[in-house]
Amino acid sequence: MSTVRLLYADQDGNILDHPGLGLAGSAGGRWETVDEAQCIPLPPGSELFLLPGRRPVGVNQDNGFEVVTADPEGGEGSVSAVAAFLAPAHTATLWAAYDRQPDAPNLPLFAYAAVGFARGRMVTTALRVDQLPRQDPERFPPPQRLQSSAQRLLRRFADNRLMQHLGHCALGYGCPAARNLMLGRWEAPLPTAAACNASCVGCISSQPEGVFPVTQERIAFTPYPEEVAEVALHHFATGRDPLVSFGQGCEGEPLTQGGLLEDAIRLIRAKEPKGTINLNSNGSLPGVVSRLMEAGLSSIRVSLNSLIPERHEAYYQPRGWSLADALESVKVVKEAGGHASFNLLTLPGVTDRPEEFEAIAAAVEQTGLDLIQWRNLNIDPEVYLEALGLEPPTERLGIPEMITALGRRFPALKHGYFNPKLESSRSS
Ligand code: SF4
Repeated sequence: MSTVRLLYADQDGNILDHPGLGLAGSAGGRWETVDEAQCIPLPPGSELFLLPGRRPVGVNQDNGFEVVTADPEGGEGSVSAVAAFLAPAHTATLWAAYDRQPDAPNLPLFAYAAVGFARGRMVTTALRVDQLPRQDPERFPPPQRLQSSAQRLLRRFADNRLMQHLGHCALGYGCPAARNLMLGRWEAPLPTAAACNASCVGCISSQPEGVFPVTQERIAFTPYPEEVAEVALHHFATGRDPLVSFGQGCEGEPLTQGGLLEDAIRLIRAKEPKGTINLNSNGSLPGVVSRLMEAGLSSIRVSLNSLIPERHEAYYQPRGWSLADALESVKVVKEAGGHASFNLLTLPGVTDRPEEFEAIAAAVEQTGLDLIQWRNLNIDPEVYLEALGLEPPTERLGIPEMITALGRRFPALKHGYFNPKLESSRSS
């Protein structure tokens, strides 16, 4: 049995380590045993979640899987599975293993890494994929300092609706990117779009009634190009290691605001020829991307759950575009000398299947991609598998193994989590 002990929650929500079972993990619904070598200490800034209507699954002495149906300490009532929502810069390599009860509710839009207990501390099946400290909790100053920095900016830009919106995001939602804008460093967000041309199953800012509660309110107004440029130019002029990004969790698809983005980029470039201007996008409109590159865009990050067309379509439910358009947008940026990344929405047991690996490798080959950002997909895994029409995997590479294999095939391809600040406005 593994040296990593299973964690469970008792009737009162206390999280305890199981006296007799080891930690199990799940890959796309397939339970797997976990060795300590697969674990890292739970990163600071991670959160622990109790999973309603889900009984914990552990590994017994004979390496068999066991569903925990009662409190091993003799407590009354039912027990629940526990999972970790990892701090930024970390990718889960296995998710929590549990036995879902028939009347269990869908899990909200978060990622659920397996978490256990070993050598006196909590550990999780994950790896740190990016060493940049941009969103490390210990890098954020005490709330008062953030508050005073934000108040200063909000007074100075009292007439700029976008800065006011981002002040609310920083102080209200605690959005790391908006906080970094208020603190004058690293990547600043430039949300612009209330609408989208897709209906992702796991969209965090817009959901049909009764499916999932959204975790981010969508921006409710359309800023002027001048407001966008003012925020960006302030950040370039005063920020430490600054870059700016269109396409945030609190908006739809920025390419649906192509004209506004083009005008804003031209206004920024008129005063800031070098700074990194990035676009986070679903990549749906390569023609618009081409215009933005002409205007001075530096880089693109295209979000994808899969490089297999049917699985991409099943998740994104795109209106009037397809995976081919998203890949074309990456090619357009590369041909214009820009930097291009995939924001690969990762779920162990789906993303690391052999056919996904081959599809990702083919897309890297085809596009000349620079970077894969391994982001955890925030979704109830059963809902996701059902949406894609998939059964638990019979075969998978493993996320760390997949990164290593891609590294062997594409030595120049980088792996990370954050958008890079480029040395000049174009990567080549
Ligand atoms: S592309 Fe983005 S904004 Fe649009 S539905 Fe998907 S997650 Fe939501």
